[in-house]
Amino acid sequence: MMRRVRLPDGTKVAALGQGTWYMGEGRRPAAMEADALRLGIDLGMTLIDTAEMYGDGGAEKVVGAAVAGQRDKVFIVSKVYPHNASRAGVAKACARSLQRLGTDRIDLYLLHWRGSVPLAETVAGFEALREQGKIGAWGVSNFDTDDLEELAGVSAACATDQVLYNPAARGIEFDLLAWCGARGVPVMAYSPLGHDTRLLRSPALGRVAARHGATPDQIALAWGLRHPHVISIPKAGDPAHIRRNAAAAGIVLTAEDLAEIDAAHPPPRRKQSLDML
Ligand code: NAP
Repeated sequence: MMRRVRLPDGTKVAALGQGTWYMGEGRRPAAMEADALRLGIDLGMTLIDTAEMYGDGGAEKVVGAAVAGQRDKVFIVSKVYPHNASRAGVAKACARSLQRLGTDRIDLYLLHWRGSVPLAETVAGFEALREQGKIGAWGVSNFDTDDLEELAGVSAACATDQVLYNPAARGIEFDLLAWCGARGVPVMAYSPLGHDTRLLRSPALGRVAARHGATPDQIALAWGLRHPHVISIPKAGDPAHIRRNAAAAGIVLTAEDLAEIDAAHPPPRRKQSLDML
């Protein structure tokens, strides 16, 4: 059974989900990408993260194909561009996303990163969508702790902050992770595998993997999931990757494992500005 994480409104979502950046761009046939997401759903990775940006809407179409006929099993997260985050802009962008996703509701709608629209205006747009039932909840992405503080002055309803987090990018452990934890706000870890293959060649991850009869990618995922309020969203189009990722949710790292990873990929000793991809 996949562990679940509670959102501030009480909704429980799979701790391990699926990303979709670079889907819907023709790297693989769209039908194959939708099949990949369906395999992940079958294996319990029922939270899917997408964005209007990915593949210029193409990724949302792949998600739409993947969830057709099983919409109720899946928790869909999508994101609005900052330049569309005005009150009228979010309504229009959300309508376009819903059309591409082939659904009448986005479960969680995020501001992709902070832009020039005042937060109060974006929040008013999100709240209107929530009242209309077009989104279930809203949150942000790439917000550092000071941005979250400012947002908290506007509204307490933010459901998540989606940020870069993996053993090679640990800055949020200094403050942001605890800030969110104290407020019951889950952190959604993006690029949990490091986005490319560099992190997966880490000898420390390799040694820990060998002890668990696992692979370095699985250790990277289990490492992020050690926090009860972290949701992780690896992207995988390869069925072998999807199966490995799903199985990683069952790996529990020991104190020795964590110490070995700390030695190779040290936690932050001081505030670092938020890393982004
Ligand atoms: P990632 O999930 O860390 O890595 C994806 C890469 O790892 C793909 O090349 C994938 O290949 C490969 N992979 C997947 N599972 C693997 C495994 N078990 N073993 C070895 N390789 C594996 O990077 P990401 O796509 O940047 O991040 C994940 C998701 O987070 C994105 O897709 C997106 O939804 C979200 N994201 C959000 C932001 C933001 O600003 N909010 C930024 C970046 C990412 P295959 O596809 O060939 O399987």
